[in-house]
Amino acid sequence: MLPVMLDLRDRACLVVGGGEVGVRKAEGLLEAGALVTVVAPSPAAAVEALAACGRLRLERRPYRAGEAAGYRLVFTATDSAETNRRVAADAEAAGIWANVADEPELCTFHVPARVRRGALQIAIASNGEAPFAVRRLRQLLDRRLAGDWAAWIAAAARFRPRVRALAAPAQREALFDRFFAATVDPDSLTARVPAPEEEAAWLANAAAVKAPVPTDPPRRPGFVSLVGAGPGDPGLLTVRARRRLMTADAVVFDRLAEPVLPPDLPARVELHSVGKEAGHHPVPQGEINALLVRLGLEGKRVVRLKGGDPYVFGRGGEEAEDLRAAGVPFEVVPGVTAGIAAPACAGIPVTSRDEAVRVTLVTAHESTRVDGSFVHWDQLAHDPHATIVAYMAVSSLKQVSANLLAGGMDPEFPAAMIERGTTSAQRVVRAPIRELPAAAEAAGIQPPALLVVGPTVHHAESLAAFTRRPLFGERLALAAPAGDVRDALEEAGAEVVEAPLPLTPAARIVLRALPLTGCLLRSPADAVAFADERPAWGDRVVAWCLDAETADSARALGWGRVVEASADAGWGALVAAMGRGDEGHRDR
Ligand code: SAH
Repeated sequence: MLPVMLDLRDRACLVVGGGEVGVRKAEGLLEAGALVTVVAPSPAAAVEALAACGRLRLERRPYRAGEAAGYRLVFTATDSAETNRRVAADAEAAGIWANVADEPELCTFHVPARVRRGALQIAIASNGEAPFAVRRLRQLLDRRLAGDWAAWIAAAARFRPRVRALAAPAQREALFDRFFAATVDPDSLTARVPAPEEEAAWLANAAAVKAPVPTDPPRRPGFVSLVGAGPGDPGLLTVRARRRLMTADAVVFDRLAEPVLPPDLPARVELHSVGKEAGHHPVPQGEINALLVRLGLEGKRVVRLKGGDPYVFGRGGEEAEDLRAAGVPFEVVPGVTAGIAAPACAGIPVTSRDEAVRVTLVTAHESTRVDGSFVHWDQLAHDPHATIVAYMAVSSLKQVSANLLAGGMDPEFPAAMIERGTTSAQRVVRAPIRELPAAAEAAGIQPPALLVVGPTVHHAESLAAFTRRPLFGERLALAAPAGDVRDALEEAGAEVVEAPLPLTPAARIVLRALPLTGCLLRSPADAVAFADERPAWGDRVVAWCLDAETADSARALGWGRVVEASADAGWGALVAAMGRGDEGHRDR
């Protein structure tokens, strides 16, 4: 059999039968832009719906002899073997390609299984002889193709006419080779989109030298992006931040940024942890600056990933100054700062028309300066219509509270500590400012945490929708592509780590960055793929297994807590069980 790609745009195609299979065929045709007619005496609701909104023409009647002749392509999927044979015979007589559901003998074409990434389609077929093998292979390839292939194929399509316009024919293939070698990692099957300046350098080079393109890649200027990672919820990484990460050569990241590294970050990206933690700085700031300058001068595209916003108590300004001094081009990609986002997720609006009309972002740490504080706590203490958000607040809380009270603040003024705001590990402790240090200590609040003092803190009571979602507190790992189950879990309030298999180095960092509560396993292969990470997660992590076979593998691999879906109940039932806390794991 010969695989072909049919251009069905605006071509008349027929689907006989309006059941489940018919609907699928009609949808496939519609996606390809065909003009679809469905003939079915009692069509399914989905067909009616497509007809109602004008997507297809629906004939609510039986197939009429000879009718197939008016179309370019025909699918038949009715309950009646006789009708199916009739349609196939009509199509054959008229020289039209026909596909008969479940009757490979009657088909004059099959539709291959496909792995799709935008315009890129990989077709898999077995002459219709082993659909089960094809399905599994499709799944495998679908998982293995990590990275942004849709954007990659679009970039390739844009690159092609530029090459054809510029280069002599002899150089074109060399440029295409360069594009491919630079953007595709053959081992991990990941793809990336080249940066505009990278493409420009390839093209400029080809245009300038009429000789064959040299094999050494041209030296392009390095570029450092100072990128805000947001407060910890991976969903709060900006679109630009993600693009910069996915196309980087090197990523230099802090502890705070670990949970938001994209798990599908290509394995070829160099990872530099400069893990700043509260209290101690494993890599001194000067060395971080020097590392950024060095990587930049090596011509690399570098992402400096910092928690929150890079210029809000992040020393991003110092890094930028050093890069400028060294002549390394850089940019800043602002991020969502914890001081605004964490209160929001704790149910505390930092401004409110009738309550708070000013917000002060301040460092609490500064109050321990030996040479006298820059912060005038006494001035901050006097405004009942302002919100104070203090960063780095854990070790200095007692001091700050004392300073505010000494400055004249009402001891009953509402205050809160928010630990790990916006994440599955978020905790909030509320108390009047006078009592907050003791309350935070009793609760064992740890960095990273913010202090919020202000008249809107009381809203946390009514507005804590973030923590009231049924699966709040769950942090779940599952293999990419996660599909619909991810949306269902996130809507219910869980944090989801969608990790490509085999696990990338970035995925391993993300998985360990915050405590996991569970792992969704679809197959024994998933259980195996996560096996070497599992010991690091501790015993509280539940293996949620889609079937008995997977559950057996999980147990055999040492998972202590295993829950399996009852036969054919699927993820829906598991998600519901999580919500009910059936496994008894929501006990913190
Ligand atoms: N540039 C960062 C702040 C870095 S300073 C930003 O814009 O958010 C580090 C401090 O930020 C921590 O000590 C803590 O006070 C605060 N912080 C960062 N992430 C936080 C989070 N998820 N929840 C609460 N506080 C956080």
